[in-house]
Amino acid sequence: MNCPNCGAEVRDIDRFCGRCGAEIAKGSQEAGQQQGTYQQTSYQQSYPPVDTRKSKLVAGILQLVLGWAGVGRFYLGYNSIAIAQILVTLFTCGIGAIWPFIDSILILAGQVPVDADGVPLKD
Ligand SMILES: [Zn+2]
Repeated sequence: MNCPNCGAEVRDIDRFCGRCGAEIAKGSQEAGQQQGTYQQTSYQQSYPPVDTRKSKLVAGILQLVLGWAGVGRFYLGYNSIAIAQILVTLFTCGIGAIWPFIDSILILAGQVPVDADGVPLKD
């Protein structure tokens, strides 16, 4: 089948178009064959469209500039890590801010590939 938005070819099991991110409406006639193809599918195809994903660049820069406040981690939904970074920074009089700084490098380098919900970050 093809994407109703951009016409790109998509697999029957995909919920979203891989090219434009549009949601694919399922025809009821496909329900029968869906089970047969299910096992060949890659689960990552059912993630939300790229436009709604969090940006690796935004997260990395937030963490780089405001990492002592855990802002990059809050942005990604890792609230407990963010709070820990604030506490470590406070209790070490700022020395512990090296952690969120390193964290920002890791985010920008793609070492934190998903947000707290397990959704991949976009570049
Ligand atoms: Zn499309």
